[in-house]
Amino acid sequence: MTFLEKIYLPAILGGIVITVKHLFRRSSTIRYPEKKREVSEVWRGQHVLKRDDNGAERCTACGLCAVACPAEAITMVAAERNKGEEQLYREEKYASTYEINMLRCIFCGLCEEACPKEAIFLTDRILPTDYTRNDFIFGKDKLVEKVDQRIDVSKRQTPEVAEFKQQKKLSHNR
Ligand code: SF4
Ligand code: SF4
Repeated sequence: MTFLEKIYLPAILGGIVITVKHLFRRSSTIRYPEKKREVSEVWRGQHVLKRDDNGAERCTACGLCAVACPAEAITMVAAERNKGEEQLYREEKYASTYEINMLRCIFCGLCEEACPKEAIFLTDRILPTDYTRNDFIFGKDKLVEKVDQRIDVSKRQTPEVAEFKQQKKLSHNR
């Protein structure tokens, strides 16, 4: 080692210069969750189970989303609709339990593509953080949209899908 290398001073000064330079540079990180980055309207975030125009749950517990899910993150229990529950559930069969394990989910969107009832969509909402594994199993209380707080997924639907939904003579849309 040369004399300068032996006393380490140039290396120490070089390190300080680099640190000071970074103090004045624009940070590439943000103070999440106080600040949030804007994400695309078709960004694949937290799922929503949609209601129809009358407020009834669209999901008919057919299980296609669970079959399509490569992470095996979706589980559900189907139940039959009782008389008088027409306002709650759109079809004769509904999901009495519907759960997504968010720790398994890879946000691929295949559940959304598989659903024939337009019941499940991924949204631009960022998944909240938590401390225990159980809190990441989202049930209907977190997934089904509130009647008075609808979640707009129109940006995720292609014009062809929107046009298809207008055809009320199709049983799919009734
Ligand atoms: S987004 Fe993909 S991984 Fe997540 S629940 Fe849907 S199908 Fe499964
Ligand atoms: S979300 Fe769609 S695909 Fe999944 S069970 Fe309900 S209706 Fe079937």
